[in-house]
Amino acid sequence: MMAKRTLIKSATILTMDAAIGDLAQADLLVEGDRIVDVRPGLDAGDAEIVDGRGRIVIPGLVNAHMHTWQTALRGFSANWTLPEYFRRMHAGLATVFRPEDIYIGTLMGALNQINCGTTTLVDWCHNNPTPAHSDAAVAALKESGIRAAFFHGSPKPEARPGQPHFSDVPHPRREVERLLAGALSDRSARVTLGLAILGPHYSNIDVAMHDFRLAREFGLIASMHQGGGPAKTPGGWEKLLAAGLVGPGVNIVHGNDLPDDLLRQFVDLGVSFSVTPENEMHQGHGFPITGRLLKLGARPSLGVDLESVLAGDMFGVGRVALSMQRALDNAESRRTIGAIPASTTITTREALGWITIEGARMLGRESSIGSLTPGKKADLVVINGTDLNLCPVHDPVSTVLMQTSIANVESVMVDGVWRKRGGRLLAEGIDNNKNELGRSGMRIVAEIERQGKAA
Ligand SMILES: [Zn+2]
Repeated sequence: MMAKRTLIKSATILTMDAAIGDLAQADLLVEGDRIVDVRPGLDAGDAEIVDGRGRIVIPGLVNAHMHTWQTALRGFSANWTLPEYFRRMHAGLATVFRPEDIYIGTLMGALNQINCGTTTLVDWCHNNPTPAHSDAAVAALKESGIRAAFFHGSPKPEARPGQPHFSDVPHPRREVERLLAGALSDRSARVTLGLAILGPHYSNIDVAMHDFRLAREFGLIASMHQGGGPAKTPGGWEKLLAAGLVGPGVNIVHGNDLPDDLLRQFVDLGVSFSVTPENEMHQGHGFPITGRLLKLGARPSLGVDLESVLAGDMFGVGRVALSMQRALDNAESRRTIGAIPASTTITTREALGWITIEGARMLGRESSIGSLTPGKKADLVVINGTDLNLCPVHDPVSTVLMQTSIANVESVMVDGVWRKRGGRLLAEGIDNNKNELGRSGMRIVAEIERQGKAA
C-alpha cells in the first residue's frame, strides 16, 4: 500500500533551507511521514490537496527548553524571582506531584505546544521522584502526538534529615537504563530520551563528572541549567574541560553569567545553547546571551521554560529574543559611537532560524527536522496570512516572526499527521482534560497549603 500523500498547493513556503530559500505560489508534497518535494507546479495525482492560497507554510517550531510538568500551575509563579521559585516550586509545590499530575500537565502542555505551532518539544522534566512519574510523562508525550525529547531529571527538594542534598546525588543510571530498555528504546521514534542533569552549577564535581560520563556512555544529550546564584562547584567547568568531557551533546541552558573565555571554549567545542529570554529577564538570570553567542559565530536555540510564569507560545519567544538583543545592540551603539546603528544588527530571518533549525541542531537532528527540505520529517505549520492582523503580507518572514500569534496557526502537521486543522486541535477529550488539569492544579496548591509550605 502506498503511503498517504498530502499536497499543499499555491502557498508561500519559507523552507528555512538556504539552498531552497523562500518560494511564492509553491507546492509542498508529503508522503507518509516525509516531505518529498517542494517547488512550484507539483502534480501529485491521488494526494489530498490542501489549498495554500494566502497561506504561509513554515517548518514546525522547536521549543528547546520547557518544564511541561508545571502546566497545571499556569501563571502561579509569575511574580516570583529565581530564589522564590526554587523555594516555593522545587522545594514546595513540586514535592506533592503524583504521577497523574505529571501526566495531565505534560499532555495538556504538549497539546498546547502543537496548538501554538511547536512540533518538537524538549521536555525538561525534572520532577521524577519515582519511575511512575517518568512513565507518566513519557506516556503523555506519546499520546499528545508531538515530537519530543524527554529530558529525564531528578527533583530538587530540601534535604531530609539523614538524606543527601540533591546536589550530591548522581543521575540515576538504573532509571536511564530502564527507560532505554522500555518506553524509549527506539532511538528513531517520535519521543526519545535525553538527560536533564545538574551540571557543575547545581552539583558537586563528582556528580557532574559522573553525569557527563553517563550521558556520553549512552549517547544521550546532557543538558543542564547554568546560572542563578553562586555555583555549587566553583571551577567545575575547568575540571570537566580538563577531563575532555565538554563537547557536542552538551547543552547549556541560560548561561547568562558565563565568562567570555569559557563561552568561547564551549562554542569552539560544539556545545549547544538554549536561551529562554523572557523567563531569564523576569526571574533574575540577567540578560540573555543571544548577542554574545552571535559574536562568537554561534546561534542559540530558544525555549519557553515555564508556563507557571509566562505564555507557551514560541512565536512570542522568538520575538522577545529578537527585541531584547536589538535593544542591547542599539544601546551599545549609542554608547560607543553616539548614534543608532545605520541598519539593524539582527534580522527577523535569523530569529526565525533560532526557533526552527537551531532547535533541531540543539538536538543533533538538523538532518531530519528544522527545515522544509525534501527527505526531512513532515513537521510543518500553516499560517493564515489573510487574517486581519497579518494582511497584507509584504515580507512573510517578518509577518511570521513579528506578527503571528496562536490565532493565526491554522494547521499543524507532526510526522506527517495533521494534529491541528482549520484552527482546531484534533485531539480528543480536550474539555475533560481541561477539567482534569484544573483539578490537578487545585489539588497541588491545596496540598502545599495544608502542609504550611505555601510561602
Ligand atoms: Zn529551565
